[in-house]
Amino acid sequence: MGQVREVDAAEITRAVRELCMEINYKVPEDMAAAIRRAREKEESPIGRQILDLLIRNQELAAQGEYPYCQDTGYTVVFIDVGQDVHIVGADLTDAINEGVRSGYRDAYLRASIVADPVFERRNTGDNTPAFIHTRIVPGDQIRIQVDAKGGGSENKGRHAMLKPSDGLEGVKSFVLRTVAEAGPDACPPGIIGVGIGGNFEYAAILAKRALMRKVGQPHPDPRVAELEAELFEKCNALGIGPQSLGGTQTVLAVHVETMATHIASLPVAVNIECHAHRTGTRVI
Ligand code: SF4
Repeated sequence: MGQVREVDAAEITRAVRELCMEINYKVPEDMAAAIRRAREKEESPIGRQILDLLIRNQELAAQGEYPYCQDTGYTVVFIDVGQDVHIVGADLTDAINEGVRSGYRDAYLRASIVADPVFERRNTGDNTPAFIHTRIVPGDQIRIQVDAKGGGSENKGRHAMLKPSDGLEGVKSFVLRTVAEAGPDACPPGIIGVGIGGNFEYAAILAKRALMRKVGQPHPDPRVAELEAELFEKCNALGIGPQSLGGTQTVLAVHVETMATHIASLPVAVNIECHAHRTGTRVI
C-alpha cells in the first residue's frame, strides 16, 4: 500500500478558483480549433459570418475584460481523488464551493444559481453550489476538471429509458430528434454528449462526462467511434447551422460514452454543450 499524502484543502480551493476565472475568458484550444475547422467547412455565407463572430468573440474574451458569454454558467466539477490522499484543513465540498465563490466574485462573473428552485428561486449570489462528481481512484493525486456550463444548452438535454428492442437505431433517432428540437436554444454549434447504458442517473452523468473529452477525440472502441462519426454527419445534415440560421455546421463533435446496463433497459441521455465550451483541468 502506498503512503498517504496530505493535501491541504486550500490547494483545491485555489485550483477551482483559478479555473473558474480562466475558463470564462479563455476558450480551450481544442474548442477554438474546432470552431476554426467549422469555419473552413461551413457552406452557408451567414453561417460563416456567425463563425467569424464567434472567433472574434474568443479573441476579445481572451483579453480578459469581458467573459466569453454573459451566461457564465453553472459550475460542474469532476474530481478524481487518489485513494492515497488525505485532504486536510476543510471539508472537500466546502473547499470546492469556496473556490467557485471567490472565483466568480473576484472575476465579476454572473451568479446564475437560484436556491429553492420552484418556490422563491432566490439567487445564492455567488454561483454556488457547484455540481460535484467525485470518484475515488488509485494513486496519490487529485485531478480537478471544471466546466462552466451554459443554462440554455443544458435545458435542451434529454433523457430516455428506451426498450432494448429499440436498439442502435432507436438510440440514433433519439439523439437526432434531441438535436433537431434543440435548434437555436442550445446556441449551436456545440458538442453533443451521449450516454448510453448504466441506469437512469448514470446515463446522464455519462453524457456530461462525454462533453469533457478533447473536442472531436474519437472513442477508443472503434464501434463507438463509428457511431460518433455517423451521428456527427447526420446532426450536421439537419441544416440547423451556426446560431440556427441555417448551414452545414450544427455540431462540432459527437462524443458517446457507454456502460453496462440491466437486461430490461436501454437508458440514453443527451447533454448539449453550446459554442461557449469552457473547461479546464488541474492536477494536484
Ligand atoms: S447556452 Fe451557452 S452560448 Fe448560449 S447563452 Fe448560455 S452559455 Fe452563452
